[in-house]
Amino acid sequence: MKVLLSGYNFDADIIKELKEKAGWEKDNVTPETLSAAYARISRDPRDIEELRREAREEVDRSRKSNETIIFGLGHASVAEHAYFNFDIIGLSRLAVEQVQKFRMASFTEKSQRYITLEGDFVIPEEIKEAGFKKEFKELIKEQNSVYNKIFSSLQDYLFDKHSDMIRKKAGRRTVEGWAKEDARYVVSLATESQFGMSVNARSLENILRQLGNSGLKECRDLSVRLYDLVKYLSPSIIKYILPTEYDRSGIKEIGNVLGDLHTDERKAALPEVKLVSRTSDPDKAVAAAIVSDIKGISYGSAMKAVKSMDQEKLRSLFVKALKYRMSYDTVKRYFEFADTTFEIVLSATNYAQLKRHRIASLLAGPYDTDLGYTLPPNIERIGMENEFRKIMAKTDDLYKEMSGTLPSHAQYVLTNAHRRRLLLKMDLREIYHFMALRLDEHAQWDIRNTAEKMLSELKKAAPLSTMMCCGKSDFRERSKDIFD
Ligand SMILES: Cc1cc2nc3c(=O)[nH]c(=O)nc-3n(C[C@H](O)[C@H](O)[C@H](O)COP(=O)(O)OP(=O)(O)OC[C@H]3O[C@@H](n4cnc5c(N)ncnc54)[C@H](O)[C@@H]3O)c2cc1C
Repeated sequence: MKVLLSGYNFDADIIKELKEKAGWEKDNVTPETLSAAYARISRDPRDIEELRREAREEVDRSRKSNETIIFGLGHASVAEHAYFNFDIIGLSRLAVEQVQKFRMASFTEKSQRYITLEGDFVIPEEIKEAGFKKEFKELIKEQNSVYNKIFSSLQDYLFDKHSDMIRKKAGRRTVEGWAKEDARYVVSLATESQFGMSVNARSLENILRQLGNSGLKECRDLSVRLYDLVKYLSPSIIKYILPTEYDRSGIKEIGNVLGDLHTDERKAALPEVKLVSRTSDPDKAVAAAIVSDIKGISYGSAMKAVKSMDQEKLRSLFVKALKYRMSYDTVKRYFEFADTTFEIVLSATNYAQLKRHRIASLLAGPYDTDLGYTLPPNIERIGMENEFRKIMAKTDDLYKEMSGTLPSHAQYVLTNAHRRRLLLKMDLREIYHFMALRLDEHAQWDIRNTAEKMLSELKKAAPLSTMMCCGKSDFRERSKDIFD
């Protein structure tokens, strides 16, 4: 066996420095050569090392062959061997949501838990052009000033409550983070953010196209800027960057076909979490997958066998399937054979966290003031509920005024407390992972509440397959209860 490290990504400033030091003139410092070499593997008898050497030496030929293989023959996965990292700074929270919904990418964002907001916010062009700049700025400044007041009171309250913790620097920072975490519910979705994004060329092409079709100018501008950064570096692996008619018109036309739909739905009465659809018997579906795999029999025969088992035998099957798992082990793929779909009404803060679970399928509706807002319990405890509600009411007023002319952009003024409706599909394997993180003692309270409600709904339908579903912090205790 021979294994070579054929490439790895590192800081662009180091690449620049190395090129300058070596007086490097060749244009082969590009991830395209890796795509080109790997693209040739299947049809060229030579060793991969030789293919890589040739791709590095003959960049023009590599680019031509990339174009033929990726775009001519449609082997788009070849573009996945090229990888990019971007620093994205100063994008609004509303626009960040549109970027971070992409699944095949990695993101790490500066947490509002660990930074004190300095009032940095985006004033979108569309809002300036529609003549709302003054009202927009005034409201956001007021929201930010309420943030500072709430933060300071929350900090006093929490420092007092956790006086033992704050004696140490790390503990003090944690408690300060809790105050920031709740105070941020009053700041707007226009607040600036920073994050790192790492992505392969195939996924980047899709991101560029979708952002180019966004209703927000911020996102369209980001699409252009991202492309400007890679187009000379890797011209052969990113090509279809413009939105197609499918992106532009499809959804609009479905809307036209549907016309006005009258329902008796009362948005304010929607439950926060509802299990709207699931595999009919999740325990048996997972058990049948296990039996089919282990016994090497068809799914139909396995399901028959599972259906003939009494409850005790079925339970032992799950006990054995989960017993030796450590807290960091992912449950086996068997658990992917049971699906769940939840409808969730949640705050922007909660959504910001939930959307990061990339294996799930998420369809998020727009923020909607009729769905109300989430009031952090600690804000009630410090007696600042009225102040909080007052700024929410002012925000709703400006939102309503703006939404007549700017339905999408009015959302910029809404806050982290405002709510939207979400359709969320996860299989039980992803549910296990989600619960491990979001029921953990370190999880933020809002998403933790959602996770608790989801699990309580699910436990009724799948008591056996979810027996070890819990936060990481409860794993040891839960294992003892079930297996000892
Ligand atoms: C307490 C807490 C604090 C957090 N703080 C921050 C923060 O400050 N900033 C921030 O940006 N995020 C933060 N996060 C979000 C966190 O970094 C993850 O993005 C989020 O929890 C999604 O989890 P995940 O990536 O493990 O899993 P998912 O996206 O749900 O994916 C499930 C699993 O699939 C696999 N997987 C999916 N995609 C890939 C991939 N591309 N490569 C390899 N494996 C993959 C992994 O095994 C992963 O665990 C925080 C999360 C928690 C729980």
